[in-house]
Amino acid sequence: MAKGLYTKRNSGRKMDEVRPMSAKVGIVPSADGSAMFETGKTRAIAVVRGPRTLHPQHLQNAQTGILRVSYGMMPFSVSDRIRPGPNRRSEEISKVSEWALSSVVDLSGFPNTVVDVFIQIPQADAGTRVAGLNAAAMALAHAGIPMKEMVSAIGVGKIDKTLVVDLDKYEDSDYHEGEGSTDIPVVVTSRTKNVALLQLDGKISIPEFKETMEMAKKACNEILKVQMEALKNIGGSNE
Ligand code: ADP
Repeated sequence: MAKGLYTKRNSGRKMDEVRPMSAKVGIVPSADGSAMFETGKTRAIAVVRGPRTLHPQHLQNAQTGILRVSYGMMPFSVSDRIRPGPNRRSEEISKVSEWALSSVVDLSGFPNTVVDVFIQIPQADAGTRVAGLNAAAMALAHAGIPMKEMVSAIGVGKIDKTLVVDLDKYEDSDYHEGEGSTDIPVVVTSRTKNVALLQLDGKISIPEFKETMEMAKKACNEILKVQMEALKNIGGSNE
């Protein structure tokens, strides 16, 4: 465990530097859309099925299709085995991911249907919800689901008094000097640069918060380039 202020990152990254990223579209040929997004040792895959008629019928909306997101970590994604099946954390992440993606998809042309997005984490080293959202946005675009704009997601935060981008597992939970770390997952839309999701775990002052938002927007621009490159290069990879 580190001592003193957080002046040097464990990984050697600059404070505003994202982990090495890689993305690939079309990883599950039988799906309507699919993608993989990797940041450092965190890997997320997303599969889209639909639009298809929603059952049971009473859940249907005659005005629009609905988006349904399911997030899960694979049993082998961390060193301790994860019990398969939903839990409180996965339910929360599924819900917030659904909100973030629903703000950009337009399913008004598909009344009474559902579009399912399945996000799975084969390998977790923090930032899995944002990696999952990056993969899901690409999978939705790959499936041809109408989207007002793309979304890109990043975790920003604060360790001791230092603002950082893209915390890894060591920074997220194992580095506990002072008050420990503050973790802020952020989703930014590609064109209007709106914030489609923001969560805050920990404490941060308003000026620091504003600075982390600028850092998040800059990181999301980099992520967007990786996503768009992978979408242009369907079936190939972009590292
Ligand atoms: P996120 O993955 O979006 O950062 P959390 O802050 O909830 O979400 O989790 C941080 C990290 O903690 C995860 O990415 C993962 O590496 C680790 N983690 C989460 N749940 C477990 C678990 N049940 N067992 C071991 N590690 C876990």
